[in-house]
Amino acid sequence: NLSAGDRVTVYPTRSCGFCNYCRLGLENYCSDAPRTGFELDGGFSEYMKVLGRNAVKISSDVPFELAAIIPDAMATAYHSLVQKAKTQVGETVVVIGLGGLGIHTVQLASVLGARVIAIDVVPEKITAAQSYGADEVINAASEDTVTRVMELTGGSGADVVVEGVGGEVVPRVLDDCFKILRLGGRLVVMGYAYGKDLTVDTAQLIYGQWNVIGTRASTLQDVVETVKLVEQGLLKPVVSKTFNLVDANDALQMLQDSPPLGRIVLTPF
Ligand SMILES: [Zn+2]
Repeated sequence: NLSAGDRVTVYPTRSCGFCNYCRLGLENYCSDAPRTGFELDGGFSEYMKVLGRNAVKISSDVPFELAAIIPDAMATAYHSLVQKAKTQVGETVVVIGLGGLGIHTVQLASVLGARVIAIDVVPEKITAAQSYGADEVINAASEDTVTRVMELTGGSGADVVVEGVGGEVVPRVLDDCFKILRLGGRLVVMGYAYGKDLTVDTAQLIYGQWNVIGTRASTLQDVVETVKLVEQGLLKPVVSKTFNLVDANDALQMLQDSPPLGRIVLTPF
């Protein structure tokens, strides 16, 4: 279904195509699925070889440097909110951590008709979240997150809480997530750290009837659907920095030292 000259973005997971998960369209569950940038080299280059089915067409209105982040930063948010949390119109969605994934999760939750509460500790990211659809914002550095969310939800807690922080602090953040989850609410864990546990009182889990959901990456179909939302102008890829390919190390250094809003993109020109 591709012709020379087609504009495409690339689903980065080379799934096997034959296992039960692949046949179900759950490429992100496939155990034989090396990913560009992880198990496969070649992402930082002018040309790369990809499976035809992984090339998702984009319209001429979507610049390549924006389309580049759709399959990861945006489709991951899509998979978590649409496929996993099954977010409904009018629900309250709390997004904790406004990094590259978080800022797109805020946008998508808003597009889905949810009321969005966005939380971070960096003022610029909080301000950006407001411009991308957050109805309420909380600065966790100066405000008590649990108290504020409970106030904003009339004491009942949020329908969906998306944890997008990860790293060393993830156990503490997850503790707070349970405190702001309504009865029967869904906790979506997107941020993580190896060796860091999620602990929950089993009695509270039962009486709270909580759903704890792990989510990773996206399916190919999620990318196709996310591309449509971008083409329709409903979602805007947030790319705050672009670097020339030859300056890739500078980009990686920036990512480590002070990650900018959204994503950084490398361009070969
Ligand atoms: Zn497979």
